[in-house]
Amino acid sequence: MALSDETFRNNHHMILARMEKAALSAGRTVKDVTLVAVSKKQPVDALICAARNGIKIFGENYAEEVPPRQVELRDFAGIQWHMIGHIQSRKTKIVADSIDWVHSIDSLELAQRLNRSLQERGRVMPVLLEMNVSSEESKGGWAAWDESQFESLQPVVDSLLVCSNLQVRGLMTMPPLFTDPEAARPYFHRLAVLRDYLAVKYPTVDWRELSMGTSADFEVAIQEGATMVRIGQALFGPRPTR
Ligand SMILES: *Cc1c(COP(=O)(O)O)cnc(C)c1O
Repeated sequence: MALSDETFRNNHHMILARMEKAALSAGRTVKDVTLVAVSKKQPVDALICAARNGIKIFGENYAEEVPPRQVELRDFAGIQWHMIGHIQSRKTKIVADSIDWVHSIDSLELAQRLNRSLQERGRVMPVLLEMNVSSEESKGGWAAWDESQFESLQPVVDSLLVCSNLQVRGLMTMPPLFTDPEAARPYFHRLAVLRDYLAVKYPTVDWRELSMGTSADFEVAIQEGATMVRIGQALFGPRPTR
């Protein structure tokens, strides 16, 4: 069934209210938390409905799906496209052409390839470094589930900072999925601890952003310091299988 404006608005208002409550409960302001509407696998009509109802930031996992969606949404001003999924190296040109933010920088090779594509286009891209804070093998990102690993990230960060067309803005993580959102809290906390560690080591870099929290656990993520929450199903409803 197609997403109606009424359903979307209800979902959106509910999420904004829950985000605000979570921020207040942690002594934060919801103004410091950006909602990324995760539209992967949703039909383009759902994105148009979201844009019509005020959504400006879409999160996508598949780079090649973004350009046709941009064509469909061309009448809406000021839309930003965030890549949140793993980027295959042959897709860096699409990303360099169409994407505004990359949350999922998960290897030096990807960073360097993307940097070259951006250089060719004279663009600078804000990026987040994806960290694996849970040791789950299926999760992407650099190994950072133990504080003893933090130091070994420094050569990586050193090399990333040489990529002058990437602008490092913070960290991203995708913890394991739990039925109890509280179970994700230690992982969100670990990402914030790592961010603070890097902020001390690299004081000239802006480490402000923490992209963490999905439909399942965004309130806990906000309490632990998330500045970007990536919410799909709670906003759009279940992803259609195809
Ligand atoms: C799909 C996805 C989300 C959103 O998940 P929902 O359960 O739909 O809120 C967030 N982050 C990443 C990396 C994803 O792949």
